[in-house]
Amino acid sequence: MTEFAFPPPPTPSAGISGSDQRFPIHRIYCVGRNYADHVREMGGDTERELPVFFTKPADAVVENGATIAYPTRTSNLHHEIELVIAIGLGGRNISKDKALEHVFGYAAGNDLTRRDLQHAAKQRGQPWDSSKAFDSSAPLTAIRPVARGHLTKGKIWLVVNGQLRQESDVSEMIWTTPEVIAELSTLFELKAGDLIFTGTPAGVGVLKPGDRIEGGIDGLDILHNSIGANR
Ligand code: MN
Repeated sequence: MTEFAFPPPPTPSAGISGSDQRFPIHRIYCVGRNYADHVREMGGDTERELPVFFTKPADAVVENGATIAYPTRTSNLHHEIELVIAIGLGGRNISKDKALEHVFGYAAGNDLTRRDLQHAAKQRGQPWDSSKAFDSSAPLTAIRPVARGHLTKGKIWLVVNGQLRQESDVSEMIWTTPEVIAELSTLFELKAGDLIFTGTPAGVGVLKPGDRIEGGIDGLDILHNSIGANR
């Protein structure tokens, strides 16, 4: 048996709706620029190019309902409501035809972003880790298993302090769930336990300490978190 120098960190996990079991998280992948209206609001070109991928650490996940401390080193924290794919069967070079067989279930997530640091990184051609992969940057609902169906359409929305900020339909995704899985699996070997945040529609905006966020996707739990005082 391996003897560690100190106790290894706990395995990050997500709830599974209708079950007492937990979904152990291996990695968190994210897709950028996957709704045309959001690409436009960020000043990008909506011509279909290969999807942009970035990652967050698995322990960036935040339990539904938790209060999230306002992160350090930003004055422009943004929300991004997203459909999240949970992978239950790993693989490499997965075909679009077989991609849905690799899905364990779906959740709603918030790709929290330090937008000021992201703008600066884009301008300088620097990586996005500080703007996207910070602590507590991945609030997530419980995962709805595929036994209750795949999720290819349905309203996706986010409300801050009772005001609607984002509203679209997941059928508006430029890259569909099978396409995202197929493409990502040519870059990385997917493993059971991987999560894929699939991009956000238009309406991203600022979060302040004290804000109450609710968001969701038809058929999934409602994601609800508050922003706490500065960390
Ligand atoms: Mn995003």
